[in-house]
Amino acid sequence: TQLDLIRNFSIVAHIDHGKSTLADRLIQMTGTVAERDMKAQILDSMDIERERGITIKANTVRIEYPAKDGKTYILNLIDTPGHVDFAYEVSRSMRAVEGSLLVVDASQGVEAQTLANVYHALDAGHEIVPVLNKIDLPAAEPERVKQNIEDVIGLDASDAIAISAKSGLGIPDVLEAIVTRLPAPKGDRDAPLKAMLVDSWYDPYLGVVVMVRIMDGVMKKGDRVRMMQTNAVYGIDKLAVLKPQMVDIAELGPGEIGIFTASIKQVRDTRVGDTITHERGGCTQALPGFKPAQPVVFCGLFPVDANDFEALRDAIEKLSLNDASFSTEMETSAALGFGFRCGFLGLLHLEVIRDRLEREYDLDLITTAPSVVFKLYMKDGEVRDLHNPADMPDLTYVDHIEEPRIKATIMVPDDYLGDILKLCQERRGVQLNLTYAGNRAMVEYDLPLAEVVFDFYDRLKSVTKGYASFDYTISEYREDFLVKMSILVNEEPVDALSIMVHRDRAEARGRAMVEKLKDLIPRHMFKIPIQAAIGARVIARETLSAMRKDVTAKCYGGDATRKKKLLEKQKAGKKRMRQFGKVEIPQEAFIAALKMD
Ligand code: GDP
Ligand code: MG
Repeated sequence: TQLDLIRNFSIVAHIDHGKSTLADRLIQMTGTVAERDMKAQILDSMDIERERGITIKANTVRIEYPAKDGKTYILNLIDTPGHVDFAYEVSRSMRAVEGSLLVVDASQGVEAQTLANVYHALDAGHEIVPVLNKIDLPAAEPERVKQNIEDVIGLDASDAIAISAKSGLGIPDVLEAIVTRLPAPKGDRDAPLKAMLVDSWYDPYLGVVVMVRIMDGVMKKGDRVRMMQTNAVYGIDKLAVLKPQMVDIAELGPGEIGIFTASIKQVRDTRVGDTITHERGGCTQALPGFKPAQPVVFCGLFPVDANDFEALRDAIEKLSLNDASFSTEMETSAALGFGFRCGFLGLLHLEVIRDRLEREYDLDLITTAPSVVFKLYMKDGEVRDLHNPADMPDLTYVDHIEEPRIKATIMVPDDYLGDILKLCQERRGVQLNLTYAGNRAMVEYDLPLAEVVFDFYDRLKSVTKGYASFDYTISEYREDFLVKMSILVNEEPVDALSIMVHRDRAEARGRAMVEKLKDLIPRHMFKIPIQAAIGARVIARETLSAMRKDVTAKCYGGDATRKKKLLEKQKAGKKRMRQFGKVEIPQEAFIAALKMD
């Protein structure tokens, strides 16, 4: 295809502003997918994405569009994820295209992820077309939101296109704008092959599928290609474009986006950002590489039933075939037996993986407290990464501890600003900046990642009734007075409940945890002390009193249905109980005990 007949673009938006719906309309109105095969959110192919309404893996589709100038253009849309955990996917896919549609909900305005994503696009040198969506809503204020885009992002929004992705209003204008306002790709067909590895995923039938953007040269089926970072050579078995299902193609030229397969075994063998060239007569200069995604949140995953360990190992192996950013190693816990310590890009990533393990592989799992990676500076000069608080060495060997800090950007209606400042202060935040755009405040905080990974986002949503938006980037490691707090149940430490905590916050956290545990652990036939301790020093204590065996005993008299319900509840609870010495602790306790209300 001629370069001037190609347009490559992505859609950037805050979550729920209508990116997937707009993609659906573009696919539908160009007849890319037959009407009978059309379903909502066609690019969000994983069930879990569809259910949660989030896009996890970047997806792509090739659309043919006959424009008003009489020529037919090829439009390649790369759909990018909208959630902060997947920021790395956004920045990588941005480099493969020349322009972006910036979708802003006309009843909401610019939100934190609008900003974060548009910065990725600007960093990648994109031309940007602002689009105001949901103008069918009575609450839509397109003029105000135009001003908002100019004030907050500093982008000219006078030519913004007003649309309703839901009804289809304005979609033809979007298609025309893609052709007239976004630049065509550049590239030299006669130069040696230079292709960017944009994404890869594991397909059970095809093996690893590699998505590429051709910068220079031509890629053909049967070609032998070299990955420049790993130096591995592969023969291309299949070359296709995504419409969005695979359609075989003879060659891909400059500016084009497509996929190939080449008997590659695992996603780890394909490094995103790598340059692919021909084995012979290839290019010599690789594209500037991307930085690999680093897991930042770690937790332990253990089977509820120890007999499921092999099944869990299998499932984890299969999932990591497809997700190079998910890291695992075996872990043994005195309390929980054999399991895995897993690293994730963030909490959503953790949830998604855990959900898939439970759902697709039918496993019951115990998830231990999420933790960040601390850096231990030992007295002998060694620097260690601490992935698991249970591995914390004796403090006498440790000189000091550093923790990761983030720069958080929060946007919120000014009515709620006070609550946000209070929340950030409680989480050891340091305010960096505060600005206003209309009646919305934008506040920047320096926060410890450890205080954010668990329930910060939920708290933020609840104190602002959902009106706040949040985004962050990891800034640096910094020293602080951090200690390991252990939890003892019936005098025995439960390693899976140990956490790293700031010394000044230890008493409060410890008290909150033992109080929660007291409610979460069912009574036994004997008294159970529940304690929080730093080293040998107990800083908080509760005692769970002994109880009679019959749980229905407290339902005096006749309410039979209530008794039955209680017994059923007890039975369901049993499934996820775990034995610690003489005490049974339910699965929920591990997560709930760590919530900071
Ligand atoms: P994404 O998170 O940016 O992909 O957003 P979605 O496309 O999933 O849309 C989020 C919600 O907004 C869904 O419930 C859509 O039906 C709704 N939505 C999207 N576009 C419009 C629109 O133009 N008008 C209205 N009223 N609702 C819309
Ligand atoms: Mg979506």
